Amino acid sequence: MKRLVILGAGTAGTIAANKMRRKLKKDEWDITIVEQAPLHDYQPGYLFMAFGRQRIRQIRRPVPRLLPRGVTLISGSVESLNRDEKTVVLADQTVVPYDYLVIATGVSPRPDQTPGMGGGQWGKSIHSFYTFDDALALKEKLATWEGGRLVMHVTEMPIKCPVAPLEFSLLADSFFRRRGMRDKVSITFVTPLPGAFTRPIAAATLGDLLGSRDIAVEPDFMIERIDEDTHALVSYDEREVPFDLLVTVPVNMGADFVGLSGLGDDLNLVEVDKGTMLSTKDDSIFALGDATNIPTSKAGAVAHFQMDLFVDIFLRHLAGKEAEEEYDGHAICFVESGGGKGLLLDFNYETEPLPGSFPFPLIGPLRLLKESRINHWSKLAFRYVYWMLLLPGRYIPMSAHLSLWGKKRPKTA
Ligand SMILES: Cc1cc2nc3c(=O)[nH]c(=O)nc-3n(C[C@H](O)[C@H](O)[C@H](O)COP(=O)(O)OP(=O)(O)OC[C@H]3O[C@@H](n4cnc5c(N)ncnc54)[C@H](O)[C@@H]3O)c2cc1C
Repeated sequence: MKRLVILGAGTAGTIAANKMRRKLKKDEWDITIVEQAPLHDYQPGYLFMAFGRQRIRQIRRPVPRLLPRGVTLISGSVESLNRDEKTVVLADQTVVPYDYLVIATGVSPRPDQTPGMGGGQWGKSIHSFYTFDDALALKEKLATWEGGRLVMHVTEMPIKCPVAPLEFSLLADSFFRRRGMRDKVSITFVTPLPGAFTRPIAAATLGDLLGSRDIAVEPDFMIERIDEDTHALVSYDEREVPFDLLVTVPVNMGADFVGLSGLGDDLNLVEVDKGTMLSTKDDSIFALGDATNIPTSKAGAVAHFQMDLFVDIFLRHLAGKEAEEEYDGHAICFVESGGGKGLLLDFNYETEPLPGSFPFPLIGPLRLLKESRINHWSKLAFRYVYWMLLLPGRYIPMSAHLSLWGKKRPKTA
């Protein structure tokens, strides 16, 4: 019996467990998944939760309910890997042997990495919405906040869902307008990037959108520390951005065991081949989803497209063959823009988000890089797709590869 061990039962690990169990023969392969949390969260729901627009039961489910029969779940936290012996060691010292390993332990926000961030002001004047508990605490804060300087801040890239901080700023604008207190709130978006997004055409569109909602942008802001006494972000080039309420996305880091095992970079992201997701250091280890260092967005859609190709990549690797179809970095992101509208971005390693229609030219019905109501409704509907189709690894009629159909490159770009 060969042993496949998957680490992490988040989006990528759960899809992998479901798809691999269907494809790998039961009398040849034993599949085990290790997960530290009892509950699986639909993380895009955190954004809506912060504004009181999503209920807990809509975004949380017990991990065992999402896994197929024939996959053994071990509840525990991975502490280290012993790559010579091919074993995983858990915090309670359980040893799990493997022949092949899939690391899908994602990334986590680490406020401890920025001086002044995770201290006494955390949960008071400093908030976040990148974990369940933080989103809940922010919801309570926003419900009673009387206004002032709201700063939405991104510490360092890459982060999961790089559009979520933009969405937060735009939804905050709508939220305070609805409450009749927008004139009491200034909103500033502080980013280490030169603009609102990583790629130029989308950065221009999203930057205009922020401007149209009276949201100021502070670009190229490399934070050094937070001054807890004066309530200000301080950058290495000595700029200061004062706040009354800071909503921050802390540094996102991979799991510590990745760094300790020598498989990762300085953010503990597993270094992999960007087409096959095979570790560049160990040919019995793959990584999927947010846990890797590949140069595309960290998004659930990425885990989904990778998994459309991964089973074949894995089986061909075992047979000593090159991958037939490699992953091209394809990512799709809905951007909720407030007022019941949203935008859609569709891109990959080579092609930046372009305007146009999706999935069909002219008729769409979804609009790329343009606000529309149907984009907003599609974003909301995605939650059902996530639980019912995506996690169980069922067929979703969407290509794993980017299509240029319906996309137009603006003449000036
Ligand atoms: C606020 C927010 C909004 C988002 N919006 C969108 C969106 O609109 N669209 C989109 O596509 N994506 C969105 N995302 C991103 C999406 O949720 C992630 O990209 C996706 O969940 C990545 O899947 P993953 O399996 O790689 O990691 P995760 O789903 O985070 O799973 C990692 C799992 O590994 C477990 N784990 C970690 N370390 C260990 C350890 N040492 N031992 C055992 N288990 C461990 C964790 O408990 C977790 O269950 C959003 C994320 C956030 C935070």
